[in-house]
Amino acid sequence: MQIPVLVKFILPVLLLLFITSCSVSKNPLRKQVKLLQKGINKDDTSYVYALPYEEGKTFRVIQGYFSRFTHKERAALDFNMKRGTKISAAREGVVTRVKEDGTKGGLKKKYRPDGNNIVIQHPDGSRAGYWHLQHNGALVNVGDTVKKGQVIGLSGKTGYAMTPHLHFLVWRSGGGQWQQVPTRFQTSKGIKYLKGWRKYHNSKPE
Ligand SMILES: [Zn+2]
Repeated sequence: MQIPVLVKFILPVLLLLFITSCSVSKNPLRKQVKLLQKGINKDDTSYVYALPYEEGKTFRVIQGYFSRFTHKERAALDFNMKRGTKISAAREGVVTRVKEDGTKGGLKKKYRPDGNNIVIQHPDGSRAGYWHLQHNGALVNVGDTVKKGQVIGLSGKTGYAMTPHLHFLVWRSGGGQWQQVPTRFQTSKGIKYLKGWRKYHNSKPE
């Protein structure tokens, strides 16, 4: 009697607890993001980014900050997008890196170096990265100054990617170390820290 109960109920529960405790990121920023997403921090004076696609368009975040799949230790967002979707600068700055010669992509780590990308340095020294662009999908060059909202590239599926999407992230340098940080965005429903599985429309609130 005792052993079947153990096998049927207690072991699966323990296993589940073990799996979830392993897969959740231990990054202290994760908790902070949760608070920011709930709007508990009212003294937020951080920069408000534009959604990284054209005004009037709507895309779904398929992976949010520190999620369990490939963003476990990443303050990054994945926007579900068909190949060839126009990507725009979320903030103005200078282009510091462009890679567009990658042709391969898939859910294998060996594809990681093939990920086409653009990196833009902002006036405050932070940087934004736009990843998985299609082959020859960069519409800017290193050294170009870009405006907020300017179309900079075309999305794709190069690099470590299961489906076509845009991987967007921002880094800040603090104490000589680059750190990925969550950022807030202007959406049609106000200023938000984006969450996984929600759709966001790029427009000013009515
Ligand atoms: Zn991603």
